[in-house]
Amino acid sequence: MNSYTIRFRLTLWYSGLVVLTVLLLGAAVYGAAAWGVREAADQELVSGLNGIDAFLQHKLAIHDMDNLGEELREHSALMPRGKMFRVLDANGKLVYQPDLMIPVASAPTNARDLQGANQLRSGHSYRTMSRIAHVGTYLFTLQAAVDQTQYDQLLNRIMFLLVCCIPVGGCLAALVGRWMSGKVLAPVHRITATAQTIDARHLELRLSLQGNGDELDQLSNTINSMLDRISESYDRIAQFTADASHELRAPVAVVRSTAELLLMDITDRTRVQRGLNDIVEESDSMARLLSDLLTLARGGLEEYTGNKELFDLSASVSAMTPRARTQAALKNIKLISESNDGPLAVQGNQVVAERVLMILVDNAIRYTHSGGTIRLTTWREDRRCGFTIVDSGIGIAKEHRDKIFERFYRVDSARTPGDGSSGLGLAIAKSLLDLHGGNIRVESELGKGSSFEVSFSVASHEGERNLISPPHA
Ligand code: ADP
Repeated sequence: MNSYTIRFRLTLWYSGLVVLTVLLLGAAVYGAAAWGVREAADQELVSGLNGIDAFLQHKLAIHDMDNLGEELREHSALMPRGKMFRVLDANGKLVYQPDLMIPVASAPTNARDLQGANQLRSGHSYRTMSRIAHVGTYLFTLQAAVDQTQYDQLLNRIMFLLVCCIPVGGCLAALVGRWMSGKVLAPVHRITATAQTIDARHLELRLSLQGNGDELDQLSNTINSMLDRISESYDRIAQFTADASHELRAPVAVVRSTAELLLMDITDRTRVQRGLNDIVEESDSMARLLSDLLTLARGGLEEYTGNKELFDLSASVSAMTPRARTQAALKNIKLISESNDGPLAVQGNQVVAERVLMILVDNAIRYTHSGGTIRLTTWREDRRCGFTIVDSGIGIAKEHRDKIFERFYRVDSARTPGDGSSGLGLAIAKSLLDLHGGNIRVESELGKGSSFEVSFSVASHEGERNLISPPHA
């Protein structure tokens, strides 16, 4: 794991980049200056050599080759300032050289082409250029030189400056980089400091925004909306826990008081039997409540989150109908089932559909008087299909209709022991359908009955074909 801070890394990158830029720029400037100075000197030296050559050719043309040393001394006055030359004959004997040229080493007499060289003599640096000159039958070695000491010193100074600039520039860049990254990262530190104060007891705290809509504002916004969601879930969990304990308190109290009553006189067999029956009923209802609570609290409703499969909703409803009919018959309620013609292909979870169906059937039976009817129908409309349960029961008043899907919501909160009513059935049905892409809708009229409609999307055409005639069949 890299333990360096972002600020340190930014500073390092920034100063590294500046040092590299200074280095490259300096090298380019130094190279260009050195090349320019050398090129200018070479051009002047070559033109000086050509001048001497032309002078010697002229001397040959006028047959005046006797006193060349003296003639060349006079000619040297014509050379540009600071330029000097030396002429050697074919034997390497000196024909002419000014005193200033003495420190400069002679050019080799066998070289044919133009030859440039750098010489460092007694603290002076010279640039020399030499070549052979054929003047009639004479052969001369011409060498011109220029003292470059000043230019070399200048270049050395440039080099020194550049070398000094690198650490200085690097340090400056590090300081500026550190300051800049500190400024840029200051809001991040603020975010971190605020985020550290947010815990379960302070879930209402939010990160402050700069208001300029930059990336950090976007990050704060995202974290804030995440906190909104966490806070909402936290409140829901707190509410759920409070509701659940409230719901469980009543049956536990009943069990306790019944048991206490029994303990007062355990000789009356009939009373003991009735009391124990009450306890068993309450325990059953608590067990059901706990199982429902577990289903809801798991959020993901694990047992019903299995893979989606292709199933025939119509067949599922038909399979559950006899059980529903038996339950209804126990309360002298008639259950009429109507199925549309063909299979209803749904890509979903069959167990979920069946659980929802039974929750609705249980409710319809519970809230319908003896002698009433329940109608169970499957249907299909375009690309949607589902089932509807219509009962002739007590109905639900308009103001309760939206709330019955909330956890623990019961229209009539008066509770009879063992009636199995917890206010969780519809909440479970809705959670399951939400998770599996289903829909639930209620219509009701007080005193006349209710109608619950559950719908799913019909599976793709290919799915439908596979359901009617499975590919492996
Ligand atoms: P419960 O365990 O109380 O039935 P549900 O969540 O299943 O919990 O239902 C919530 C409330 O909605 C019930 O208490 C009841 O008042 C009302 N309700 C549900 N189904 C029907 C129905 N078919 N007819 C009348 N009222 C119903």
